[in-house]
Amino acid sequence: MTTESPDLPPPTEEGRLRYAGGYNLDFDPPIPCTCNRDCKSRCAGECGCEACSLAFAAYADICGWYGEEPFVPTEKHLQQYRDVLGPSKGSNQ
Ligand SMILES: [Zn+2]
Ligand SMILES: [Zn+2]
Repeated sequence: MTTESPDLPPPTEEGRLRYAGGYNLDFDPPIPCTCNRDCKSRCAGECGCEACSLAFAAYADICGWYGEEPFVPTEKHLQQYRDVLGPSKGSNQ
């Protein structure tokens, strides 16, 4: 038995490939990755995955993309995110 929030779904198989154990450990509690195989190699949460969405939000925050206006990610932002961080999986090969 664990004390994990019952609101969180289990990570998907694909999620386990992208994050150790399937969870984004940058957050507390860790967020399960629910990506699927159709996701971009570096998903920014387009699929509804909370882990990747928050990871992108954290990156956007570091970049100062959150200004006074509501931040709406464009292809340019997403492309930079993917270029800088590279694929989520296979980075240890
Ligand atoms: Zn994900
Ligand atoms: Zn995804």
